[in-house]
Amino acid sequence: MKHLLDNVSGTTTALWNAVNKIYGNNTYSITVSGSGKVFLERGFTTEIIAEGNERIQTVLRKLINHTRIDTDQCPRCGLPQMDPKRRRNALSRVGNVYVCETCGMDEALRAVNGLTVPADKWPIK
Ligand SMILES: [Zn+2]
Repeated sequence: MKHLLDNVSGTTTALWNAVNKIYGNNTYSITVSGSGKVFLERGFTTEIIAEGNERIQTVLRKLINHTRIDTDQCPRCGLPQMDPKRRRNALSRVGNVYVCETCGMDEALRAVNGLTVPADKWPIK
């Protein structure tokens, strides 16, 4: 295993560690194929996000830079109460987007009564 990890550059590793701190461990994983190709994948899926150190570093830098912009404001209520660790927020019932904890609870309660607010009515005032 050690010889495979040698294909991952130090810069890639450092950026990946930073991304792990923000998004949580294993939200993004780095794998090395038998032929030594480096891949950035989403979680434990085999969904490849980027291939090769250079492209992976570009994606990782974007993830790091986008964190504050993406997570500060909840897309559903517009309030700046998103957890910087994306996965600690609630996954919305209307789509593949994270909302704040309060909205997650609100969605759950509304869903029980069939009163889900569709995403095109966001942000809710
Ligand atoms: Zn919210």
